[in-house]
Amino acid sequence: MTHIITSLCLRDGGCATVCPVECIVPGKPTDQWPWYYIDPDTCIDCGACIPECPFAAIFPEEEVPSAYKAKGGEYISMPVGTPGFDTEYTGTNHDGETVVLTATRILAAGEVVDLTPDIAPNEAFYKEGPGYDALK
Ligand code: SF4
Ligand code: SF4
Repeated sequence: MTHIITSLCLRDGGCATVCPVECIVPGKPTDQWPWYYIDPDTCIDCGACIPECPFAAIFPEEEVPSAYKAKGGEYISMPVGTPGFDTEYTGTNHDGETVVLTATRILAAGEVVDLTPDIAPNEAFYKEGPGYDALK
């Protein structure tokens, strides 16, 4: 098992500072890999990252919601070019740095979103993407 970072991630970065095995890294380039990602082969499922996320974006893999019910106002973030994701998010991360994400969408109150498709990009980041290159 592993933990999964979902599209609710807005690159706060706080989770990476508490992971005891340092298996959370920021996706780069940001337009292709907008979230932070967890190395599934290294994660020890300690759960320390979950309360650090201000956007409640992290779940144990088997608890990633297939019907996440939005409170309203949450942003979800996708790679640039994803249809329907044309809102820009600007915020401040855990270190006080500005974060800009150009392909986001704001959820409406009561909107139900399937977050389980977010599991695959976490694995792909380490198997095929920049995470793989970093581990070589
Ligand atoms: S703390 Fe949450 S928003 Fe920040 S990088 Fe981690 S998962 Fe993403
Ligand atoms: S569950 Fe623990 S080991 Fe896994 S990513 Fe989160 S902090 Fe790191």
